[in-house]
Amino acid sequence: MSSEEKPRSNFIRQVIDEDIASNKHNGVVITRFPPEPNGYLHIGHAKSICLNFGIAQDYKGSCNLRFDDTNPHKENIEFVESIQQDVKWLGFDWGGQALFSSDYFEKLHDYAVELIKAGKAYVCDLNAEQVREYRGNLTTPGKDSPGRSNSVEENLDLFARMRAAEFEDGKYVLRAKIDMAAPNMNMRDPTLYRIRHGVIHHQTGEEWCIYPMYDFTHPISDAIEGITHSLCTLEFEDHRPLYDWLLDNISIDCHPQQIEFSRLNLEYTVMSKRKLTLLVDEGLVEGWSDPRMPTIAGLRRRGFTPASIRDFCERIGITKSDNTVEMGVLESCIRDDLNTTAMRRMAVLNPLKVIIENYPEGQVEELEAANHPQDESFGTRKIPFGREIYIDRDDFMEVKPNKKFKRLVTDGEVRLRNGYVIRCDEAIKDAQGKITELRCSYDPATLGVNPEGRKVKGVIHWVSAEHAVEAEVRLYDRLFSQANPDADKDGDFREHLNDESLHILLGCQLERAVGEAEAGERFQFEREGYFCKDEAQTADGKPIFNRTVTLRDNWAKIEQQNKG
Ligand code: ATP
Ligand code: MG
Repeated sequence: MSSEEKPRSNFIRQVIDEDIASNKHNGVVITRFPPEPNGYLHIGHAKSICLNFGIAQDYKGSCNLRFDDTNPHKENIEFVESIQQDVKWLGFDWGGQALFSSDYFEKLHDYAVELIKAGKAYVCDLNAEQVREYRGNLTTPGKDSPGRSNSVEENLDLFARMRAAEFEDGKYVLRAKIDMAAPNMNMRDPTLYRIRHGVIHHQTGEEWCIYPMYDFTHPISDAIEGITHSLCTLEFEDHRPLYDWLLDNISIDCHPQQIEFSRLNLEYTVMSKRKLTLLVDEGLVEGWSDPRMPTIAGLRRRGFTPASIRDFCERIGITKSDNTVEMGVLESCIRDDLNTTAMRRMAVLNPLKVIIENYPEGQVEELEAANHPQDESFGTRKIPFGREIYIDRDDFMEVKPNKKFKRLVTDGEVRLRNGYVIRCDEAIKDAQGKITELRCSYDPATLGVNPEGRKVKGVIHWVSAEHAVEAEVRLYDRLFSQANPDADKDGDFREHLNDESLHILLGCQLERAVGEAEAGERFQFEREGYFCKDEAQTADGKPIFNRTVTLRDNWAKIEQQNKG
């Protein structure tokens, strides 16, 4: 979405419009994005980021970035930093400091004490298995924990001693006293605090050995920050009664409204951070920013732009129904963006040497080429042409295989893009019969004009051998070979990894102008797709280019064929 365009409305924006009309929060809108720093952000998070920050922008409100950091053993500062980098890169600003739930540990503790004093929370000494057993199930009500009948004094004393590190992990938990027969299992005396020794929290160090649960921390953090609309994914719908119960039972005079929307699922990938962590930790991908990963860092390295990801989030919209989006939707967003923003260049990925025998040795001509076929504001560049050039092996056949083949054949003609018409006189082969080079001739009268009386239909790309920049080019395919790698609940999603997801091409030849590109720069290599220069180089100092996306949706075509 460009900034001039009005975002599409959705059911959440309708709620906000009504709240503004009725002056519910004095017309103010404050949202938040609450990631847990236990992994890198992925494209699903982008949906939530665009929603929360987008609403704040459009309603002239604000959006907090708040780290939900109550699980210190899985979190670390690398994730805290990468998340901030990715949100900024997507084009959003949380105004001032990033916030942490751990900033509120003392306040959260005090609210827990308040609940205990009001007889609405108690210390429970059941172990995890007993807690589960006592909880009952959908058809059987739960049983009371013995702790439920503790006096307020006993609970205060035990909770203080939990905090003072008198007990080992798991000895006690603090639970809300709600209803052990509630039809909603989340209301059967949920755990509010647990003991966790021996972890160093990335923000609070060793200050705490009790940590609040997400369901306790989240509503109170929202209320402390004066959030008006707390937007979360559908799996929290059943937690909303607890969200509301907590805010109704502590002395805080802010009660944000929790509204749920459906998660983004994308075909041919996984989105759970637990699974992405496994791929990284087991070396099944090259880290969180592997260009095949659905992470923001991976998409960035692949060559996606922030605008294309925002556009994607706008196109998929916000609803309450679960669905899985086709990869083609994401790809068409980046294609549409790069089609208008990327300079055109020539790159030969699978080079075949061509000697133009009637071209003087040592002579070089600088031909002029437009940087964009439609947009003149991109200007032009010079491309060198000489006696030796490279074309792609796929653009030559000894014998025309069919009528559709418009490229070069022996004794046939083809136009070099932005250059002359050449004719192939002979294909030279090695002892194994592999073609090693072509002997051609050029027609000097054909630069920018059609040869008289001859039909030359094909146009192929090429680069001057003397001036070309050698590079490694990486082509990517889906990370998984199944649309839903998670479909089989008993299976292992890793079994569906696509062995063909990365193709490395060595010895590619790029036109001279690409040699000056900086890391992160994106181009259309004509007829080959959109490519982005990687931050890394090969061991021998050659540039690496990642293919962002092909020029057309080949994948959809293949699917069509499979179905048809
Ligand atoms: P995961 O299952 O990947 O670990 P999570 O929900 O535990 O996801 P958080 O770091 O807690 O990850 O997510 C921060 C915010 O992003 C939450 O509000 C969450 O609802 C939202 N979010 C996470 N995944 C998606 C998704 N696939 N689609 C939309 N929003 C998402
Ligand atoms: Mg979470």
